[in-house]
Amino acid sequence: MSDVSAHPATETRAADSTTLAEYTTLRLGGPAGRIEIAASAEEIVQKVQQARLRDEEVLILAGGSNVVIGDAGFPGTVVLVRSRGLRVVAEDADTVTVRVEAGEPWDDLVAATVANGWSGLECLAGIPGSAGATPIQNVGAYGQEVAETIVGVGVYDRAEGTLGRIEAADCGFAYRSSVFKYSERWVVLSVDFRLARSPLSGPVRYAELARTLGVEPGDAVPLADARAAVLRLRAGKGMVLDADDPDTRSVGSFFTNPVLDRQAYELLRERAADLGEPPHWPGAGDTVKVSAAWLIDKAGFAKGHPGPEGVAISSKHTLALTNRGGTASTAALIALARDIRDGVHARFGVPLHPEPVLVNCAV
Ligand SMILES: Cc1cc2nc3c(=O)[nH]c(=O)nc-3n(C[C@H](O)[C@H](O)[C@H](O)COP(=O)(O)OP(=O)(O)OC[C@H]3O[C@@H](n4cnc5c(N)ncnc54)[C@H](O)[C@@H]3O)c2cc1C
Repeated sequence: MSDVSAHPATETRAADSTTLAEYTTLRLGGPAGRIEIAASAEEIVQKVQQARLRDEEVLILAGGSNVVIGDAGFPGTVVLVRSRGLRVVAEDADTVTVRVEAGEPWDDLVAATVANGWSGLECLAGIPGSAGATPIQNVGAYGQEVAETIVGVGVYDRAEGTLGRIEAADCGFAYRSSVFKYSERWVVLSVDFRLARSPLSGPVRYAELARTLGVEPGDAVPLADARAAVLRLRAGKGMVLDADDPDTRSVGSFFTNPVLDRQAYELLRERAADLGEPPHWPGAGDTVKVSAAWLIDKAGFAKGHPGPEGVAISSKHTLALTNRGGTASTAALIALARDIRDGVHARFGVPLHPEPVLVNCAV
């Protein structure tokens, strides 16, 4: 079997601060009761079990790129997932199955798969955070989502106190969702991805990406080209973390694209008649997925729209709410999110839902 050695740890910051803002990409969140670093699957389980013995609530936190933590923080134990490593656990002529420890930095994994000629994750380049968090909301971008390549998830079951594996078919993967999202039960310890042995990407589905690559939608391109084009597009939208760019002090998209049934979509069309056809795509079943960015923009919240305390819509992407100065409170970010949600509802009658996990706060 091939040996893809784990990358050196990119970050093993000691838990020298109990302010959770230090551990989130938004730089928001109050104090934790206790912060524990877990550097292996065994340590993750151990720290969770120890907290349970102390009768403390547990928050699993990895890259902190998809959470909004309230100003009051989290009174229990925060377990920082810092396990590393990946290895091939199965292979045949056409595919390899890679088992990735939960704390492995996601973008490093994508880079490694591209370098090895393994196809299936290349369009997910540049997404911050950990491999173990990708099943939580079925991470997706530019026409790919992890549900297409995950074959199983290694878990610790907090309810039963046992180790186990959940097959992909039982993960409940849907658009930015799975059985793991908001679950008090499952801790992800590792994820198995089955990838095609191919120097080429899957069919490029996302029109903007196809245009950037100079190909037709449905064409395949060299893996490295797909990854590079995605990284370029993402950087232009403030969607690759950059410490010097306040537009990236966010959780990425703050709202999911609303999924409407036909009737609700017709109502939206009527209310938006003066604006032309709302951008939309087919959703699951007979549903229609609508662009949240378009709704927000047309409801009067343009790029750069300010909220209190220096929070603002990103100047590069309508869906990203940013803590520009790095000094705002979660309450300020939530106030901006509520303004946007209420404004879109008043204008179009469409409810917006937050994409990140909200901890001790609510929109
Ligand atoms: C600039 C930017 C761009 C982004 N772009 C995208 C994008 O294109 N597509 C997309 O889907 N997302 C995107 N995101 C969101 C985010 O990067 C992903 O959701 C990512 O997978 C979160 O990983 P994390 O390690 O940071 O998770 P965290 O933020 O640490 O955790 C998120 C949630 O998962 C839970 N969790 C984390 N690890 C585990 C584990 N091992 N076991 C159980 N629960 C766990 C946490 O408790 C929390 O509820 C973006 C975020 C940013 C800041």
